[in-house]
Amino acid sequence: MRVEGVRGMRDILPEETPLWQRLEGEIRRTFSLYGYREIRVPIVERAELFSRGVGEETEVVEKQMYVFPDRKGLTLALRPEATASVVRAYVEHGLYAKGDLAKLYYLGAMFRYEKPQLGRQRQFHQYGVEAIGSGDPALDAEVMDLAWALMERLNLRREGLFLRVNSIGCREDRPPYREALRSYFSAHEGELCPECRRRLGTNPLRILDCKEEGCRAVARGAPRSVDHLCPDCHAHFAAVRGHLQELGLAHELDPSLVRGLDYYTRTVFELCSRDLGAQDALLGGGRYDGLVELLGGPPTPAVGFAGGMERLAIVVSSHGGAPLAPEAPIDLFLVPIGDEARREAPKLLAALRRRGISADTDYMGRSLRKAMGVAGRSARWAAILGGDELARGEIKLKDLASGSERTVSLSQFGTDPAAFLAGVA
Ligand code: AMP
Repeated sequence: MRVEGVRGMRDILPEETPLWQRLEGEIRRTFSLYGYREIRVPIVERAELFSRGVGEETEVVEKQMYVFPDRKGLTLALRPEATASVVRAYVEHGLYAKGDLAKLYYLGAMFRYEKPQLGRQRQFHQYGVEAIGSGDPALDAEVMDLAWALMERLNLRREGLFLRVNSIGCREDRPPYREALRSYFSAHEGELCPECRRRLGTNPLRILDCKEEGCRAVARGAPRSVDHLCPDCHAHFAAVRGHLQELGLAHELDPSLVRGLDYYTRTVFELCSRDLGAQDALLGGGRYDGLVELLGGPPTPAVGFAGGMERLAIVVSSHGGAPLAPEAPIDLFLVPIGDEARREAPKLLAALRRRGISADTDYMGRSLRKAMGVAGRSARWAAILGGDELARGEIKLKDLASGSERTVSLSQFGTDPAAFLAGVA
């Protein structure tokens, strides 16, 4: 019986993995350039980490989280995002005790029960940074600069990208703004979707990022959070935008940008691609100055972002990204002819690999002609070990691009293969 994979959870096949590896490599390099160090947090956490951290009322927690009891009845969740986990780890290991800025990055699988579509899966992968310990507006701008720098390293066209920013203010700004939204949306209640009518009572901020056309039309006229900032938050946002300008990072103020997770405060942003269609956000983030304290640490400001690997892969492979180098072929394909040569083959292969030459052979009982065909498709050199060569203690090396050949001593080749391969061009 065939058992199928789970809907919304994709296999990343060998044709795709070279692109993923390249993206992961650039991501790691760029994050290190900005002083971030990797943290690896578990995929499974207590569900309450997210209901408290991300917010009970959010789509992610309310509708999308995979929650299950373990064998002792503890309620666990597959992580839908990693910021809450990173902050938990930061608090749990007392990373704040060093009194310094902690710059942490992660890469990994996240899980959300969403309707699968292009660029939206149930298992997806995020790369992200968290800078925990400073409220400096220059850090908000640095985090956005990091996001741009990553896209530049991936050769994405600047014109194909745009940065949306907004400020949603601090905890104190939230209640009056929420009231302003509530009274505005109440006047338009009939135009809202049933879900948003419910949100009117619980969390009117969420109406701003509802995807229903009717709600979006109403939201366009809604009060703007930037008009409800306290003087400190106002000054912070002005400073962030000043830094962005100095860094030459074009951005647009998007008053409807509130982001789907409750922990955000002050700056929120998304870096979007014009090539992605409806799911245009490559990455999103912002400040979360209250989260460390909410999860049991001391009051600690922080800022970060998370981006989707799948979307990055789509954009890089189909729009303006650097052409992907063909998958590196192996160095050498060994073609043994006859039983004796087949018996010799494993020893020679093991010796080559230990000397750093990637090498393979035929395990399918192919004829010489077919085996040479496989060699031509997968390797740079073929090494042909026939009965006669073996009897003389020799092996024939062939450069598969130029066709030139050379017969060399088998034992010397096994000792210093690189030198002999370099000699066949
Ligand atoms: P969020 O954690 O919701 O702020 O999302 C941050 C980024 O992760 C988005 O901009 C997307 O690039 C990516 N992302 C979020 N959800 C999904 C998903 N279900 N499938 C693929 N990518 C996603």
